[in-house]
Amino acid sequence: TCGICVEKCPFDAIEIINLPSELTEDPVHRYGENAFSLYGLPVPEPGKVTGILGPNGIGKSTAVRALAEEIVPNLGDYSQEPNWDAVLDRYRGTELQNYIKRLTEGDMAVAKKPQYVDQIPKQFDGKTRDLLERTDERGELDYLVDELSIRPVMDQDIDSISGGELQRVALAATLARDADFYFLDEITPYLDIGQRVKAARLIQELAEDDEADRSMLVVEHDLAILDLLADSLHVAYGEPGAFGVVTDPKSVRNGINEYLKGYLTNENMRIRPNAITFEEHAPRETTARDVLVEYPDLKQSYGEGEFSLEVEGGTIRQSEVLGIVGPNGIGKSTLAQMFTGSVAPDEGDLDFRLDISYKPQYIEIDQPMRVDTFLSSITDDFGSSYWNTEVAQPLQLNRIMEQQLTDLSGGERQRVAIAACLSKDADLYLLDEPSAHLDVEQRVQATTAIRRYAENHDATVMVIDHDIYMIDLLADRLMVFDGEPAEHGHASQPQEMRAGMNDFLADLDITFRRDERTGRPRINKPDSQLDRQQKKQGEYYYAP
Ligand code: ADP
Ligand code: ADP
Ligand code: MG
Repeated sequence: TCGICVEKCPFDAIEIINLPSELTEDPVHRYGENAFSLYGLPVPEPGKVTGILGPNGIGKSTAVRALAEEIVPNLGDYSQEPNWDAVLDRYRGTELQNYIKRLTEGDMAVAKKPQYVDQIPKQFDGKTRDLLERTDERGELDYLVDELSIRPVMDQDIDSISGGELQRVALAATLARDADFYFLDEITPYLDIGQRVKAARLIQELAEDDEADRSMLVVEHDLAILDLLADSLHVAYGEPGAFGVVTDPKSVRNGINEYLKGYLTNENMRIRPNAITFEEHAPRETTARDVLVEYPDLKQSYGEGEFSLEVEGGTIRQSEVLGIVGPNGIGKSTLAQMFTGSVAPDEGDLDFRLDISYKPQYIEIDQPMRVDTFLSSITDDFGSSYWNTEVAQPLQLNRIMEQQLTDLSGGERQRVAIAACLSKDADLYLLDEPSAHLDVEQRVQATTAIRRYAENHDATVMVIDHDIYMIDLLADRLMVFDGEPAEHGHASQPQEMRAGMNDFLADLDITFRRDERTGRPRINKPDSQLDRQQKKQGEYYYAP
């Protein structure tokens, strides 16, 4: 047993070697006998953005439902009707006392942005404008609509707009409200980096409005954005589905550093056996590897002058991981489709005979079939100890092997699709947005799996993604897209990381510095001394 459940753990939870002190106390909430238990609550702070960092299924939404008065925490005793007086007693003298007091006095207006924006069209029938106008409680809607570039879809039906547009509409709808406590459950899905940074700035702006004393609580799995956005950070850890612990607040810098290290200092808790580390300096000019493929200049356009793409011819080297970055709607997926042969370029011939294993951005694995049946139909290695260590374990597939493909959540489908892609025998592996729908721990594990797979198989990999930490950890070289989204796109030749990052980030007007202790990249405050200095030197990522 893990020491929490009285009987044998129904979840096959990990062994906890040193039980953190939180867990010897009663939980904040327990859903029932042998059901999920939550330990600890985040503390919303007026005028501040508080972040929560941790995997899914660990109780983040449960904590927020308590803070939004949607459930009354039962303090572990699920046999009796819970009441707020008991909760108030428990938190007397702590930082949460004031918050809970105001909440129970009905003096706390709450606005929430849901995690799964794809559900919105199922709940709302109408045009973007109709949805947004009902939320305009502060008279700031026009501003938000412009800042988030929603104007072009204002008169479209909600069920006809893209995921990235839905996400921005959901953000605008939440931030337009006049609330005391805002809860944003993930802000980055479907957004490109420019849009992520914009969303982060709008949230900070709202928190910084001195007169209103608003508290913002944000769950986010993109570490670069979380780092930029939050003023303080709770790390959440435990065993998804079984129990979760929300730590006391840490500084954002320490919280992320400890998370990456896999060890929480104050809690004396190891949350991962291995540390995640970044290379502080640009990788040396990669030594001339063999050429896997050379491709010519390519051109492609859709419709009559709707969208056109120009690709500079270049080389992909044997055994490299090539990162591909650029805004949404700029032609990244189109390039992937030209490589796999499903889109024939208008100009330029791609007549290489390569076996390409492709994970598309929008995953279609909807056969009525179990996960294990599906994966064993792809590779004979299925079930071998080698495949288990390299693929199944890091992608956390064991728990979902017996489920039907049609029943999987977004994150589960993504992991199965990554596994299927890597399990094929191919010359080139092409993954379009592998981080989508994954929580922070799954991203870290998926990155390790892809990287290790490339190294052990001398495999060549191309990865399109918007998560800069994932790209940094994965890529040897970069291909950068620029242009005007939905109008015209341009793809550079694959470049060395330094040159590629400089190109990409100059376009976005964002610079990164390095964390002194861990070397991980951190976004500079715009117009800070470092930001100005690095821009002058043209070093946007690997500061000299
Ligand atoms: P997160 O937001 O971190 O993904 P949640 O708070 O949504 O986590 O869920 C934590 C755990 O609690 C999950 O295993 C979930 O299945 C369980 N859970 C959520 N709501 C209920 C409920 N009403 N009854 C029983 N279990 C629940
Ligand atoms: P990215 O992957 O960079 O987001 P895409 O390659 O998916 O960009 O799309 C680039 C542009 O081409 C977008 O404006 C998109 O709407 C358009 N587009 C993509 N596929 C098609 C298609 N099959 N027919 C018409 N337009 C398309
Ligand atoms: Mg795409």
